[in-house]
Amino acid sequence: MEAEAERPLKLYFIPYLAAGHMIPLCDIAQFFASRGQHVTIITTPFNAQTLHQSKNFHVQTFQFPSQEVGLPEGVENLSTATDLQTSNRIYMATTLLRQPMESFVEQHPPDCIVADFLYPWVHDLALKLRIPRLVFNGFSLFTICAMEAVKTHGIGASLPFLIPDFPHHVTMNAAPPEDVRRFIESLLTVALKSDGFIINNFAELDGEEYLRHYERTTGHKAWHLGPASLVRSTCLEKAERGLKSVVSVEECVSWLDSKRVNSVVYICFGSICYFPDKQLYEIASAIEASGHEFIWVVPEKKGKENESEEEKENWLPKGFEERGMIIKGWAPQVVILGHPSVGAFLTHCGWNSTVEAVTAGVPMITWPVHSDQFYNEKLITRVRGIGVEVGAEEWTFCGFYECGKVVGRDRIEEAVRRVMDGGDEAQQIRRRAKEFAETARQAVGEGGSSYNNLTALIHHLKTLTL
Ligand code: UDP
Repeated sequence: MEAEAERPLKLYFIPYLAAGHMIPLCDIAQFFASRGQHVTIITTPFNAQTLHQSKNFHVQTFQFPSQEVGLPEGVENLSTATDLQTSNRIYMATTLLRQPMESFVEQHPPDCIVADFLYPWVHDLALKLRIPRLVFNGFSLFTICAMEAVKTHGIGASLPFLIPDFPHHVTMNAAPPEDVRRFIESLLTVALKSDGFIINNFAELDGEEYLRHYERTTGHKAWHLGPASLVRSTCLEKAERGLKSVVSVEECVSWLDSKRVNSVVYICFGSICYFPDKQLYEIASAIEASGHEFIWVVPEKKGKENESEEEKENWLPKGFEERGMIIKGWAPQVVILGHPSVGAFLTHCGWNSTVEAVTAGVPMITWPVHSDQFYNEKLITRVRGIGVEVGAEEWTFCGFYECGKVVGRDRIEEAVRRVMDGGDEAQQIRRRAKEFAETARQAVGEGGSSYNNLTALIHHLKTLTL
């Protein structure tokens, strides 16, 4: 019995095939591996190539059903899709992966499965095999609490609405379309039947009040194990997160080295948000008017790899490109955020981007677009006071250039100035952001909250399984 308790847990991780899900869950898998557990990541060949090179885990791949869904070879991740049809086909393909993955797990059962909530079938599989299942969806606990509150109490048809039965008075000005909300809620319902949520955050940022609220309202367990990005310590490890960067890290770092501390605005809307040219033009005009230097990550447009000068004029004011760094494609975000010259992050509030900014102590200028982002914004601005809002009020699946209302340059410029031009408010925000960064680092260090949670979780799983 003693020897059994000493043997490492055999854990399978099944991340969803999108950068915002895959990167953090694989980093969390590494936390387990670094504590001596036997970790296998189950994915497809292209996605396996994007995993951490200095890995201490195993990888089990299954052929991506490209032909079955009519996709070219190598398009296996939502973050590489540049149109809606491709995105839908990738989604279809992930559903086809169920059968081979399921039979592999049945033939080689682990002690525990950690899977994305977008694979709800893992629930029945774990029940059948009588093994614990942990679930991950890349949201903060604050957001899960908010979604659960809305699900339980229902929201009226009109906006704004107050999140019901919630520790803070939080008013929402945007809501997802009914079908999307129902879809997420159905996934959450299955997730709550699992043995626990894994959260890519540290308990102090969600806050004691939300930990208690979650346990009280759901009776379910959530394990804060992050920030996941801190599993990477060297510049190279940080640079190789996700897709291949289109700029060299040296280029980014030496450009940033030549700038003053806190003088650069970093702009990036994650891995699956594409704004139309008219919106990009407003962003560029706002940054231009603010007078601040910038690094701006703009997703590469399909078929426009060699954009003509005329086409560029649709979204770039004349001469703007020379006044900062524009990265068309994948950027080494964690490296950029960690540079002292970066003074603010104009972000879509994707949870990974949010927690990476917090980890780096960088104040945020928030511009949510869809998914969990509107809730994340409230945590950042109204609850923790580490950012200011641009004032985006429209939930839009801003995939592939179809956006609703354009956010005007004046609102963007004003928000940028509030953080970048100094003054009392900016100083307070910066001070709080730095304090949270320090807490984040301590959380994953020995004896920190996330470190201790992982110790407790491993122990808990061992008592359940061995
Ligand atoms: N990311 C990156 N470079 C990019 C764009 C995104 O490294 O050019 C990473 C970012 O650091 C984060 C993830 O991709 O870890 C995006 O996740 P997030 O939750 O912020 O947004 P999503 O892409 O899911 O909307």
